[in-house]
Amino acid sequence: MTKIKDLEWFCPQPFMNAVVNHDRVTKPCCVLKRWPNGKIRKSGKTSVMDVHQSQLMKDFRKEFLEGSGPLTEKFCLVCKEQEKHSKTESHRLMYVDKFDENHGEYREHTTALEEYIDTDHSEPFYLTMEYNAPNNFCNLKCNMCGPFNSSTFAKENKAIGITEGKGMASRWLAGRTWVNEEDDMNQYTDVLKNLIELKLVGGETLALPQNYEMMDKAIEMGVSKQMRLVLTTNATLTPKMGKHGDVFDYVPHFKDCQMNVSIECWGEKNNYIRFPSKWEKIMENVERFSKMPRTKILFATCVSSLTIGYLHEVAEGVDALIEKQPDIFKEFATGSLVIGGDNLYTVTAIPLDIRDLYLERIYEHAPERHTKTFMKLAKYLTDMPFDESLHNRMMIDVAKRDKFRGTVLTDVFPEWEPYYEKL
Ligand code: SF4
Repeated sequence: MTKIKDLEWFCPQPFMNAVVNHDRVTKPCCVLKRWPNGKIRKSGKTSVMDVHQSQLMKDFRKEFLEGSGPLTEKFCLVCKEQEKHSKTESHRLMYVDKFDENHGEYREHTTALEEYIDTDHSEPFYLTMEYNAPNNFCNLKCNMCGPFNSSTFAKENKAIGITEGKGMASRWLAGRTWVNEEDDMNQYTDVLKNLIELKLVGGETLALPQNYEMMDKAIEMGVSKQMRLVLTTNATLTPKMGKHGDVFDYVPHFKDCQMNVSIECWGEKNNYIRFPSKWEKIMENVERFSKMPRTKILFATCVSSLTIGYLHEVAEGVDALIEKQPDIFKEFATGSLVIGGDNLYTVTAIPLDIRDLYLERIYEHAPERHTKTFMKLAKYLTDMPFDESLHNRMMIDVAKRDKFRGTVLTDVFPEWEPYYEKL
C-alpha cells in the first residue's frame, strides 16, 4: 500500500477536499491559483462529482502521486513559493501533517486515505468540504471586503458610484448587488456521506438559508454526528433561519463545532472597519457561542493596512479569554494577508512614518508568547515596499466610504491624520 510519507510532493486536498464557490464551480483547495473557473462554468460540469471525475482532476491527482507536473506548477504556486522560502511551512505541509500517523488531527483516517490513493478514484472519498453558498448576503460592509462576499458592500459601491475595482467585474454578480440562488442539496449526498469536517462560510454564514439546508441535509442523512461543523461568522446576528431554528439549535446535532469569529481589531476600531458592527453585540454573541455544547471559538483577523498596527490588542484580548476559559477559546489567528489583485487595504499602502510607529508598537507591546506571529508582521512592515499610487487609491476609498457612512478614519486611527487632511 502506498504510504503518504513516502511520496515526494503529496497533498491530500485533491483527494479528499472540496471547495464549492458562490458560483457553484468546485475546486479541490481554497489556496489554488489560476484554477480554470471560467472553463469549468462554460462546460456546465461544475458540481463536486463532475469536477472530481474530470480529466483535469485525474491529471492533477496523478501529479501528486508522481511528484510533480505542469498542473501543480501552475495551480499550487502559493505552496511552491512558500516552500522555496521555508522547507517546513506551507499549506500543503500543514494538510499533510493532519494525516501524520502519530500526531495528525485526522490520523484515524490516514490508512483509509492511503488505501484510497491506490484506487482509480472513480468513487468519491471526501473528508472535508468548504461550502460557499450561492448567496452573497452580508449585513456588514468591511472596508477590505468586496461585492462578491457582501451584498451590503455591493450596495454601498453602487450608492457612491464605485463601478470598478475589487470584485466589480464578477460574472456571477453580473452587476447585481445581491444574488441569492437556490441550491439542490441532493447533489451533495455523495460528498456528505464520509465527511468529518463541514465548513460553512459567507457572506454572513449564519444569515444564509442555503447553509441551514446543508446542515439539514447532513442531519437527515444521519451523518452530522460524525462531522465537525466549522462556521465562520461576523457574530453580529443569530437568526432563526433553518427548520430546526438558529445556530444554537443546530450545533448540538454535530459531533463538535468550531466558531471562527471574524474580527479586525479589538473594540471600537473593529466597529469602524467592519461597519456597522457593534462590539458589545459581538462579545454578547461570543459569550452565547461559548455555552454551546462541544464548541471551540477562534478569533481570526485579516492582516491589512488598518489592522497590522493593532493586532497586539487582539492577542491580548484573546489571551485574557483563554486564561478564563482555556477549553473554549483557541489562539487568535492572523488569517489572510490582504494583498494583490484589486485590494487597496494592503500593507504596501502604509506610508513609512506610520510603519515606524506600528513597528515600535509591535516591539513594545507584542506579547512574548506570540513572538513568532509578530515577527512575521514586523517583517511585512519592513520588507514590503511602499506603493504610493495604491496608498492614494486607498485614501480616496476611505474618504468616499467615510462620507457616505458618517464616519471619520482619524477618530479611530489618528496616525493617518496627515494623509487624511490632504484629501
Ligand atoms: S499543494 Fe497547496 S495549493 Fe496545491 S492543492 Fe495542496 S494546499 Fe492546495
